[in-house]
Amino acid sequence: MLKLEQVLCLRYNYILLNVKILESFKLLMLGRALILIREVGIMGFLKFLKSFFQPPKDRNLIPIYLSDKKCNEKIKVLVRKTYDIHSLYEEEGEAAYRLNKVVICNKCYNKINLSIDFDRNYNIIKKTIEGGNFITEEEYNKEEIGSD
Ligand SMILES: [Zn+2]
Repeated sequence: MLKLEQVLCLRYNYILLNVKILESFKLLMLGRALILIREVGIMGFLKFLKSFFQPPKDRNLIPIYLSDKKCNEKIKVLVRKTYDIHSLYEEEGEAAYRLNKVVICNKCYNKINLSIDFDRNYNIIKKTIEGGNFITEEEYNKEEIGSD
C-alpha cells in the first residue's frame, strides 16, 4: 500500500507534468500564431481570429436579401436547400434547382413572389421577383439614417 507521502508526491508530479504540457502547448500555439502573422500579415491574422470565433455557416442555408416594394422593409430569407428548393430536369436548360417562394412582409403583410434558378453548385443563374426588389447583403446590413 502507498503511504500518504508517496501519494502526494505522485500527485505533485502529475500536476507538474500537466503544467509542463500546457506550457509547451501554449508555446506551440504562440509559435503557430507568429508564423501565421508573418505569412498573412497582422490584418489577415485578425481576420483569421474573427473567422475562428464565428459560428460556422450552415451550408444547407442560402440567404436571400430583398426589400418590400410597398413599404421598403428589408427582409432576409433563409432558404433551405433540402426543403425549399426542388430539382429540375434536363429539358429546363442549365438550371439544376429552382426556388419558388412567397414571402410576406412582416411590416405591411405585402406578398412578394420569388423565383430563383440555381446551377448545380447553388450559384444563382436567374432570378425574378414580384412585389419587391433583390438587394445585396451590404444593402441589407446598412443602417438607414432617418428611418425608425
Ligand atoms: Zn412591407
